[in-house]
Amino acid sequence: MSSLPTIGHFINGQCVPSSGERCSDVFNPATGAVSAKVGLASHADVDVAVATAQAAFPAWAAQPPLRRARVMFRFKELIEQNRDKLAAMITNEHGKVFTDAKGEVVRGLEVAEFASGIPQLLKGEYTEQISRGIDAWTMRQPLGVCTGITPFNFPVMVPMWMFPMAIACGNTFVLKPSERDPSASLLLAELLKEAGLPDGVFNVVQGDKVAVDALLDHPDVKAVSFVGSTPIAEYIYATGCAKGKRVQALGGAKNHMVVMPDADLEQTVDALMGAAYGSAGERCMAISVAVAVGDVGDKLMAALAPRVRELKINQGMDLAAEMGPVVTQQHKDKILAYIDDGVAAGAQLAVDGRNFTLPGHERGFFMAGTLFDHVTPDMKIYKEEIFGPVLCVVRVPDFAAALALVNRHEFGNGTAIFTRDGNTAREYTSRVQVGMVGVNVPIPVPMAFHSFGGWKRSLFGDHHAHGPEAVRFYTKQKAVTQRWPASIAAGAEFAMPTMK
Ligand code: NAD
Repeated sequence: MSSLPTIGHFINGQCVPSSGERCSDVFNPATGAVSAKVGLASHADVDVAVATAQAAFPAWAAQPPLRRARVMFRFKELIEQNRDKLAAMITNEHGKVFTDAKGEVVRGLEVAEFASGIPQLLKGEYTEQISRGIDAWTMRQPLGVCTGITPFNFPVMVPMWMFPMAIACGNTFVLKPSERDPSASLLLAELLKEAGLPDGVFNVVQGDKVAVDALLDHPDVKAVSFVGSTPIAEYIYATGCAKGKRVQALGGAKNHMVVMPDADLEQTVDALMGAAYGSAGERCMAISVAVAVGDVGDKLMAALAPRVRELKINQGMDLAAEMGPVVTQQHKDKILAYIDDGVAAGAQLAVDGRNFTLPGHERGFFMAGTLFDHVTPDMKIYKEEIFGPVLCVVRVPDFAAALALVNRHEFGNGTAIFTRDGNTAREYTSRVQVGMVGVNVPIPVPMAFHSFGGWKRSLFGDHHAHGPEAVRFYTKQKAVTQRWPASIAAGAEFAMPTMK
């Protein structure tokens, strides 16, 4: 018998254990030790969660939007009160530094703030007198049970891109968090309950592919929001759509920062350090490629390399730490294999982060920052998402070559340009084939009241996450045309009423 805690599901307002035997290890990445087991949902567990959400749907959908908004107001306050607790949970299972984890909680909270304005957001369009005595309007109604399948790298923020908006729109929700850092999802569920959310409106099933496939198969699941790697996003999109569901599936990335010769070098290097090595590079908006234009390459490398060597690496609860460990040993091995591959392919390894151990944390999943120069587009380290603290510098002769490089890449999540020239920035933002663009802003993540999403193979589906797009994704529109007896002409009409 294991003395480790077992993390279960949250169904109908209560924590419940998994019904089957299957479970998976949850690690503390800083120590390398297993901190808990997480039960992996069976098909039967998913059926119970969906049936619970389906049963809760009619009453929740019938609540006035203002009442649903008030739950979100209280939830927002509870998140503020529990911010540090949530952040510590993130650091303990994900590894990112505590200050960054707190920032993640705040980015999630902002979506709850936006969702608190749902009465305004759900207002439809109205036209009086589309013809004599006839009025028309549109309204937006909830879909039913919605599900969210989320990645390990933002265990609070990414679920909160989804469920506050889905619930505020009048839907019920089943969240399937990453099995690598499952604890925060249960605290979020408890806070929603404390905020006054009726039981059954928000449920959590822990699990892996078995749970995901059961959700995709279930006829009562009407919409699927997915965030994770591109192969799985594509699978979720194809499978969910074939089953008649709405699907938005956000995938992987390879985000380029174009550094023009006129960029402020100091600011550019500061921006690159945070954007490439923050959260150990495990961000879908991390900058993983710096595109050095013209003669800026040598100057950039000279300024960047010492900074990468000086990165303060420690366990995430150390408040001076800039970078913590990566999420698992398996993920660390994958990153190390990419670095080996880059060396073998002939990229110049300017800073080698492979052989790093943190004294006192020898079994933790730590590695140092890695910096490659003279990376070329045919190399695997350029083409594929590494999702670790590895920055590749590609040198190009001019702006046109930089733009063409970025546009040729299969991913199109985020990008940035660093320059002092307004016209160059304007050309770049207009012509780049990427969903989110920063001008002297390295990680241009839209705020909660805008929508987040990439292009090309970084997003499958039509709708981006949170903001106004979320209202459209989580509701269906109905158009009503109405007239009353006094305005109805006697006898059958054979021409369009607008002819009158
Ligand atoms: P992942 O694709 O391995 O897992 C994501 C989710 O899918 C998890 O809940 C997991 O349990 C489930 N899953 C995994 N394999 C599955 C399978 N074969 N069938 C069905 N479900 C499966 O991703 P991850 O490693 O947890 O997260 C990192 C990835 O997420 C990176 O590629 C990153 O770029 C991406 N990401 C993208 C965004 C974005 O907004 N575009 C945001 C965050 C993370």
